[in-house]
Amino acid sequence: MQKDSFPKFKALLKKSNHIVIVTHYNPDGDAMGSSLALYNYLIKVGKNVTVVTPNDYPTFLQWLPGNKKVLQFSKDLKKVADVVAKSDLIFTLDFNNYSRLEGLGELLKDSKAKKIIIDHHQQPDNYATLMYHDVNACSTCELVYEFICGLGGKKQIDKDIAACLYTGIMTDTGSFRFDSVTATTHTILANLLSTGIKPSAIHSSVYDTYSESRVKLLGYCLTEKMVVLSDFQAAYIALTEAELKRFNNQKGDTEGIVNYPFSIKGITFCAFFAESEGKIKISFRSKGKFDVNQFARKHFNGGGHINAAGGRGNNYDLQKTVESFLDLLPVYKTEILKK
Ligand code: 5GP
Ligand code: MN
Repeated sequence: MQKDSFPKFKALLKKSNHIVIVTHYNPDGDAMGSSLALYNYLIKVGKNVTVVTPNDYPTFLQWLPGNKKVLQFSKDLKKVADVVAKSDLIFTLDFNNYSRLEGLGELLKDSKAKKIIIDHHQQPDNYATLMYHDVNACSTCELVYEFICGLGGKKQIDKDIAACLYTGIMTDTGSFRFDSVTATTHTILANLLSTGIKPSAIHSSVYDTYSESRVKLLGYCLTEKMVVLSDFQAAYIALTEAELKRFNNQKGDTEGIVNYPFSIKGITFCAFFAESEGKIKISFRSKGKFDVNQFARKHFNGGGHINAAGGRGNNYDLQKTVESFLDLLPVYKTEILKK
């Protein structure tokens, strides 16, 4: 944990006039929620702020307040290069390593702007001037809430900011059910609800907007593709690009599928593989002690948290990637089965 002092954050913010907020590739609910919450707060206190994402994100996040102002590096290369060049302060939210930005990372590397990391992932890089980092936080949104309060902005938290923060906490905790959820998390949620946001409306905006083909894709994964390996308390699902096309896959459609095998009694380790544009994207999830962050970091060019991590196939072959995963299971068997 490294939480720098608020006088330092205040002093840096005071002298910064052009602020950019950047989040990771394939932004999820916590990435967009935390970025837009901080954005809405900073513009409220009179700052000049731009949110930049490396690429597109799911439509179920595009209702978040401030979404229309977001710049996407993959669509607006020139505009993003300009705002980054002009910036004197860059917040990097929900990640801590430039490799999570793909091409946008080069721009940040070259930028002279001061950097602030707000994040809850393991093993941060050392590019930041100041950090607000805690791996025990359930989400970056939880940290952004504390950060705004630390700056003296608790009263400024309105419905827009609260909706963003609630969304990120909800999506990063499996709707408030993971071990990372604490009494503090629920106290924060209570404070957010007191602004008047409607939890049922937010849940619906995120979870009840699936297309018919997305629900059918989920059905296909569970009936045709899920492989259960009881000896290892594990299960995995691997999808080819052709299968994803068959179900008219849209960004975000496969999010969360990795968790479904946990509903089977005894399963504590799940993996999900998807082939996209020749790359193999992997998600790992565990229950209990098995550290999928280390597993993903060591074998699949990835990382994340102890119980939720992502990575990439070492080669561009789905079958071979799955085989290398299967070869590792006996090696990690005792760790996976450890209570
Ligand atoms: P997901 O499986 O939902 O893509 O990611 C699970 C968690 O792992 C998220 O917190 C995400 O930020 C992190 N993660 C996903 N892919 C990578 C990766 O390639 N590198 C690192 N360091 N973290 C990742
Ligand atoms: Mn997060």
